Amino acid sequence: MRYDYFPKDQRVQSRRGRLIGVTTGATRPCQLEGCKGVRVTVKWPDGKHTHPCSEGLIAGRRQWRIA
Ligand SMILES: [Zn+2]
Repeated sequence: MRYDYFPKDQRVQSRRGRLIGVTTGATRPCQLEGCKGVRVTVKWPDGKHTHPCSEGLIAGRRQWRIA
């Protein structure tokens, strides 16, 4: 699936499952060669941002997980 955007205010679970971040709605193209995803901006409780690729996000019932 190709994403040109990623919705805002989606919950994202940290890799270890302890933290919940929220998508800001900001995206940028993924620079990985051949990847059709976008880098999704996630804001974490400490105020920091990370940019996981949408291709590595797994939809769960209540939140996304990072593969
Ligand atoms: Zn990617």
